[in-house]
Amino acid sequence: MASGSYRNGTPKTTKPDRSTSSTYTTPKPTAKSRVAAGGGANVRRSSAVPLIAKDDAGVPGRVRVAVRLRPQNSEELVADADFADCVELQSELKRLKLRKNNWESETYEFDEVLTESASQKRVYEVVAKPVVESVLEGYNGTVMAYGQTGTGKTFTLGKLGEDNIAARGIMVRAMEDILSDTSPTIDSVSVSYFQLYMETIQDLLCPGNDNIAIVEDPKSGDVSIPAATVVEIRDQRSFLELLRIGEAHRFAANTKLNTESSRSHAILMVHVKRSIKGRHDGEEGFPVENGQASSLVKSFRPPIVRKSKLVIVDLAGSERIDKSGSEGHTLEEAKSINLSLTALGKCINALAENSAHVPFRDSKLTRLLRDSFGGTARTSLVVTIGPSPRHRGETSSTIMFGQRAMKVENMVKLKEEFDYKSLCRRLDVELDKLFSENERLQKDFEDEIERVKAEAQNRISEVERKYMISLENERLKYQQDYMDSIKKLEEKWMINQQISNNERFWVGNHEGFMDGGEASVPSTSDSMNDDKQLVKTENLLRQSSEDEVSSLKSQVAQWKRLEAAANAEIVKLNKKLESEAHQKEKLEEEINILKNRLLQLSFEADETRRSLDRGGSGKAFSGFDTFMSQARSSQIRDSANGQKASIAKLFEQVGLQKILSLLESEDADVRIHAVKVVANLAAEEANQEKIVEAGGLSSLLILLRSSEDETIRRVAAGAIANLAMNETNQELVMVQDGISLLSMTAADAEDPQTLRMVAGAIANLCGNDRLQTRLRAEGGIKALLGMVRCGHPDVLAQVARGIANFAKCESRASTQGNNTGRSLLIEDGALPWIVKNANNEASPIRRHIELALCHLAQHEVNAKDMINEGALWELVRISRDCSREDIRMLAHKTLTASPKFQAELRRLRIEC
Ligand code: ADP
Ligand code: MG
Repeated sequence: MASGSYRNGTPKTTKPDRSTSSTYTTPKPTAKSRVAAGGGANVRRSSAVPLIAKDDAGVPGRVRVAVRLRPQNSEELVADADFADCVELQSELKRLKLRKNNWESETYEFDEVLTESASQKRVYEVVAKPVVESVLEGYNGTVMAYGQTGTGKTFTLGKLGEDNIAARGIMVRAMEDILSDTSPTIDSVSVSYFQLYMETIQDLLCPGNDNIAIVEDPKSGDVSIPAATVVEIRDQRSFLELLRIGEAHRFAANTKLNTESSRSHAILMVHVKRSIKGRHDGEEGFPVENGQASSLVKSFRPPIVRKSKLVIVDLAGSERIDKSGSEGHTLEEAKSINLSLTALGKCINALAENSAHVPFRDSKLTRLLRDSFGGTARTSLVVTIGPSPRHRGETSSTIMFGQRAMKVENMVKLKEEFDYKSLCRRLDVELDKLFSENERLQKDFEDEIERVKAEAQNRISEVERKYMISLENERLKYQQDYMDSIKKLEEKWMINQQISNNERFWVGNHEGFMDGGEASVPSTSDSMNDDKQLVKTENLLRQSSEDEVSSLKSQVAQWKRLEAAANAEIVKLNKKLESEAHQKEKLEEEINILKNRLLQLSFEADETRRSLDRGGSGKAFSGFDTFMSQARSSQIRDSANGQKASIAKLFEQVGLQKILSLLESEDADVRIHAVKVVANLAAEEANQEKIVEAGGLSSLLILLRSSEDETIRRVAAGAIANLAMNETNQELVMVQDGISLLSMTAADAEDPQTLRMVAGAIANLCGNDRLQTRLRAEGGIKALLGMVRCGHPDVLAQVARGIANFAKCESRASTQGNNTGRSLLIEDGALPWIVKNANNEASPIRRHIELALCHLAQHEVNAKDMINEGALWELVRISRDCSREDIRMLAHKTLTASPKFQAELRRLRIEC
């Protein structure tokens, strides 16, 4: 390579026009990341928009690599005094020049270039801090140092900084950050520390434990070291103590094995387990019995825990071991000592070159680091070098290792799962409370019944007693009155008797006075009158006593009625008691069902986790949503039969109609769950037809129109995007005014995930030849372009896909002679954005745009605009630089076939 040229694993290329802005190329994404992000050629397959891309499908994350130069040591200061250093760092440009000789050098670009004066603090911040932060967010992370012995790996990672606090290395600083961000009461931080030497693992926290096995799941290949000592860390002091103990044991172990620590790999594993609060806002799709969450179930969604792992690896020195055995090793030993590091190099080469086979299983180190390279962890590598020209060869090979590692792409994944155990404990406590509350209520109720009964009885006896007393009084009174009146009558009768006797005597002696003496004799009629009067009074008295009797009778009747009412109340209360008892029984039944359901759920969760572990190389089960979208991931499709069965079971048990009807539920929580279930079902191609037949598409569109809730709109848009994968459904979406609804949502929404779903849906519609005109007329293209305001790469990737789909249909139509006009994309002003993003650093965006440009260029009527707006240069660049051969060829073919492009290139004397 000529002197002064830049390298990053690929030779420098020069663009025809903007040579200054395209000096370096960033590492090419691997085949893996392209598949995950949705490659350009197979648009249909890539159009399934994952619901929770961040947490679930993982996001591409390249291995970050920093290079650190050690200052000259005292020996080098003397020995190399007359020689220039073999490297020159340009830290602001993130470049390193490796001198070959006085005239030639090669330049390499890294993610970070740390000069000999870089402080430990800065090294921690650029190399490890982002990894530590993502471990605290629930992702696995790896920080690793690679380099020749004596270049500062242990200094960078393991320095305790006891004498000089500024010298603290990455391990110490990482633990400080972890402890300050976690709560000792609800989170847990624990570590294990071991070394790997000659394919044997020794526990540095328990020296007797000197040959620990790596346990590997035979199906998933997931590795763990269950026999290693795990120590819970509560404070920084105990962690430092632990590192000291580890160091001492490492020294002792190396003395015993007759080796040096530079020949062994030291591995510190920090396990962080955090519980996530405030996530019970309908974010998780917690399964429910028969489609309805009972209130009890709703209040007991399992809490979520994030279990992540930080692995810090101080590798053995990378220098080649002298195979002659000068270090006191036989050739076989030398091979074994080097085995792990050699295997690591091979794996990184294979990953960097996208080889189909990566030989992870060749060594223990590569088995342990499987998740760190090409796995799900966020990984940062620091390669350490020395300045001495005497070690130029080792320095150069270290740099090349770093360069290759920069090409390794991981799929970073959140390690989140439901904490069923703690939910179980909570449920047990709650059940216990319910039981005792129930017992108390039952007792209160029985006491109340007793009290009411006794009160009623008292009242009845009181009434009866009063009644008897007044009856007796009345009787006595009448008897008395009766006797009195009899007495009076007798007296009267006696008087009358006397009077009539007198009369008889008077009449016998004074018959001569008969005529004139009338007035002086008391008359019989007077006495009759008195008698009549008496009888009358007598009658009145009788009448009044009869009245009184009847009033008493009516009073008695009323008391009887009262008694009957009290009896009725007792009957009612008894019935109530019965129904309460019945209800209690039902409640107990419900509790039992819940318990069983919970057991079943735990079992299913375990099953799912196991099956995912088997198929997903150590990927943890992370919630219902994860489980649903994992199930549709084609990568693990074969191993996910268990999950499919669960979806099918849900479908069967609840019924589609029921689920769809829940979309209109009054309860917002239920609506959110329902739309999630529908969205997850819609992600399975087999369910899509049934969902559309049952009116699911219309319901989802209505929800998109009417819901204010961002989550519902996001999930509904995702479901529509998935349904809009086939042509019939795309036409249905159009007919139901879907495009203007999606455009409205595109204009209103701010959440990038919602925008991604909407852009995904429109992008799918863009791929339908028959809908082109209408899609554009109803504002589809404008809506798509409007969403680029959000700037999120996932949204931009969907926009780019939509544009590529649209351009593809247009070019097809023009080849068939069905389209003669200028591209509607150009009409709607898409070209400036296309040109601006044609070399976007995110490969999914770039690939789609490259394809879109090739399609647009196939129609000569677009050529003028493309030349004016600078698209021609992008095409030229694609035809030269694009790493995808098919796109490169297509661009080249298109350029040579267009007379206008040819004329312009000739005019500018540019060869193509
Ligand atoms: P390695 O672990 O790669 O074999 P060490 O970390 O043991 O190397 O470093 C070798 C020597 O160099 C140690 O004495 C260490 O203190 C010193 N050293 C390494 N890096 C630096 C640095 N950046 N600044 C100062 N001294 C350093
Ligand atoms: Mg060391």
